[in-house]
Amino acid sequence: MSIIKAKDVTFEYIRRDEEGNVEGITTAVDKVNLDIKQGDFIAILGHNGSGKSTLAKHMNAILYPTEGTLLVDGMDTRDEKEIWNIRQTAGMVFQNPDNQIIGQVVEEDVGFGPENMGIETKEIWERVVESLKAVDMYEYRKHSPNKLSGGQKQRVSIAGVLAMHPKCIILDEPTAMLDPDGRKDVIRAARALNDVEKVTIILITHYMEETIYADKIFVMEHGAIAMEGTPKEIFTRVEELKELRLDVPQVTMLAYELKKRGVDLPDGILTNDELIEALGL
Ligand code: ADP
Ligand code: MG
Repeated sequence: MSIIKAKDVTFEYIRRDEEGNVEGITTAVDKVNLDIKQGDFIAILGHNGSGKSTLAKHMNAILYPTEGTLLVDGMDTRDEKEIWNIRQTAGMVFQNPDNQIIGQVVEEDVGFGPENMGIETKEIWERVVESLKAVDMYEYRKHSPNKLSGGQKQRVSIAGVLAMHPKCIILDEPTAMLDPDGRKDVIRAARALNDVEKVTIILITHYMEETIYADKIFVMEHGAIAMEGTPKEIFTRVEELKELRLDVPQVTMLAYELKKRGVDLPDGILTNDELIEALGL
């Protein structure tokens, strides 16, 4: 079952002058086709300006295609009657946690989403508890969000989306402003939601290491999908990634360099353990 289906999606930002004449057009998304299955963990990579955020905003109907169609769980994002269903099905977490947390107390913040959906009070509290536990922030439920670290705030943001019981969560560079520990905790939380709760995860990131567990990676360039495949398939294509100004995970790079120097190794090594094993150590 498809949760996100993009058919030839193109999106143009149109700049106009004061009189309303078109000054310029940026094609930020260019004929993108995607078919993401319920329960998948998807990563989207791409250099700055490649169109990742614009595409992500199509997935919960913040933007809709200039041309083409985008379906969320079968609902067309152009269909205005479905907009709240779409936003409840596909929740979004952004880069800056400070812009997403509005409550004075963690548990209150997480309850806002279901409250706005008109869920009854008893169930709101059940959802708040379950969501905070899922991201390992339950013990902070009575805290003020202001005092939390970036990684903790980001996990509270994720809990807030989770409390709406979405089928899919889109995370647009959720770790970009975090320290390494905060990054790990956020990624661990996202992976757990995928594994345990079967929530579809779409993770947009700059950090290659965060994508190695994905079921599938899409690489964007100039608004289009330039590469797609499993992490192993993608990170085997080191030269192409370099051309797209992207890195590969450190250990993958090391294995690639060793191989070039004649060490007998398989392609697409992603973890330290795989490298150690392949070296027969
Ligand atoms: P990414 O998230 O991969 O960095 P974006 O989707 O933010 O890429 O941007 C894709 C392209 O669209 C870029 O050329 C960017 O300058 C342009 N763009 C993004 N947002 C706007 C906007 N609000 N108005 C006009 N152009 C925009
Ligand atoms: Mg972006």
